[in-house]
Amino acid sequence: KESWAMMFQRQHMDPDGPSNDSNYCNQMMRRRLMTEGLCKPVNTFIHEPLVDVQAICLQGNIICKNGKPNCHKSSSSMKITDCRVKSSSKYPDCDYHTSHKERHIIVVCGGNPYVPAHFHASV
Ligand code: 5GP
Repeated sequence: KESWAMMFQRQHMDPDGPSNDSNYCNQMMRRRLMTEGLCKPVNTFIHEPLVDVQAICLQGNIICKNGKPNCHKSSSSMKITDCRVKSSSKYPDCDYHTSHKERHIIVVCGGNPYVPAHFHASV
């Protein structure tokens, strides 16, 4: 069974990306299995080494939007790509806007070892 930590890596980690291709999200959302059953509406990919993303769990501890205490905000800004489904997109032809950004990111950490389990937000 896929753990939360593995799911986080599948959905959010792309350390060697991005290609500067406007088709990035269309390809990656499909390749990482987020267009099965529905087009996942919003998803963020992170273009930084896995160790640097895992280290966020040791950084700025904050309260999550849902009131839980296990959110962590990266001390540095990180290269990310924001994928958002277009309003004209019709499942199963999932069609996304791709926007490359540099932001601090907030992840939810859990487990032992204490590693990223969910992507929360970029700020
Ligand atoms: P909007 O910007 O459309 O109002 O809200 C988008 C929401 O999706 C924001 O709360 C943002 O934090 C969140 N978000 C961004 N990337 C991801 C992601 O990869 N997974 C999840 N679950 N939420 C995300």
